[in-house]
Amino acid sequence: MNFSIMFDKDKCKCCTNCIKRCPTQAIRLVDGKAFINNDKCIHCGECIKVCPYNAYTPEPIEWYEEMHFSSYKHKIAISSTPLYGQFPKGTDICKVQNSILKLGFDSVYDASWAAEMVGMAIKRKINEEKIRPFISTNCPAVVRLIKNRYPSLMDHLILIKEPMVIAAMLAREKAKKKLDLKDDEIGVFYLSPCPAKLLAVTDPVGDYKPYVDWVIPLNTIYGELYRELVKGDNGLCSHPSLNGTKWAVSGGQSESAGLTNYIAVNGMENIIQILDEVENGNLTNVDYVETLACVQGCVGGTFNVINPFIAQSNINYILGNTKDESIIEELDEFDEMYESGVFKFSLKPEENQGKFNMKEAIIKREKIKEIYDKLPGLDCGSCGAPTCYAHAEDIYNNESTLYNCVVLRANKITEEGR
Ligand code: SF4
Ligand code: SF4
Ligand code: SF4
Repeated sequence: MNFSIMFDKDKCKCCTNCIKRCPTQAIRLVDGKAFINNDKCIHCGECIKVCPYNAYTPEPIEWYEEMHFSSYKHKIAISSTPLYGQFPKGTDICKVQNSILKLGFDSVYDASWAAEMVGMAIKRKINEEKIRPFISTNCPAVVRLIKNRYPSLMDHLILIKEPMVIAAMLAREKAKKKLDLKDDEIGVFYLSPCPAKLLAVTDPVGDYKPYVDWVIPLNTIYGELYRELVKGDNGLCSHPSLNGTKWAVSGGQSESAGLTNYIAVNGMENIIQILDEVENGNLTNVDYVETLACVQGCVGGTFNVINPFIAQSNINYILGNTKDESIIEELDEFDEMYESGVFKFSLKPEENQGKFNMKEAIIKREKIKEIYDKLPGLDCGSCGAPTCYAHAEDIYNNESTLYNCVVLRANKITEEGR
């Protein structure tokens, strides 16, 4: 399974927008074109959003063929919580689900039910443990940001699996029992609002199995879905959990979990400001920091089609106008599932390294600072790095030299000419 962010060099006009906006400073200008350092990329999709020349696109996939779709006996689509907000206000949820089935799936599992249970698990864990604030882990881009930029905050991550994983696990188990199928006869496909979910499946930070076989970018199937939707035909229907559907928008997961002392923050720049506050010890009086990389939350994901604010309004309409009924038995089994550890996870040993290398990280920071002090501090970007500090990091990593600072070079030439 794979798709990634595609880059068309010919479209890059060297405007530096993406370089300045990438939250992990993963992009450099090399020979007049943007270049992504994959090791630093957290798949947040910000570069796709900010490039005015559409140089970045999610890699198009011929998904039916590439994912060996027909080889699975039973194909399950997991509908993400922002999905229903992608259709005009008043669209019948059952029709959306039926449209998904028409694409060739055998069943649809609504991730909102898993989201509701994950909310319950989050509340339970906050009540059980003293860490303050806990930081959410359902947005893989934020978890990667913390790993790369705030290793000292890894202890604050609430190690509860995200709804996508719980939904995939429950849907798979249900199908196995009901249809007497083996695990490899079932294909689980997540209809994703953002590129970061792929990373969560191919390289999860936790020691758990993601249970998802393929992540399908929602925008790649939206046209087909919409065509089927317009045709009508209302058959099967499984109601969403209204409480879980709140997860589609920023603040929704905290609300769904029944938290009162929380901060909900969305958009990478805002998240960085709040994480700085957490790192400086200023938010120890807050229980939970809910962080979602995309504007307005998952409704703002790069793979969505509708404007995030309109999508949010559509979700609110659904919340206010849909019958609230519980249809899954797992909700009654929550206590047992929680006690048996279904929701919890541990970080993989390599993800923990950030914690154990704190001393090293401090020494590294000091050395980078020494290099930074030799640079002009103008953040002009002419060296291809977004800031002088990022350039100092490149020099520390032997990926650049002081000579590449255009300003230093110009100053030297001026001095030599005197
Ligand atoms: S996806 Fe995000 S982290 Fe990766 S290069 Fe683009 S902006 Fe940077
Ligand atoms: S945003 Fe990045 S990729 Fe797009 S034109 Fe500007 S520098 Fe090139
Ligand atoms: S002043 Fe020099 S180091 Fe700083 S961004 Fe500009 S070229 Fe790069």
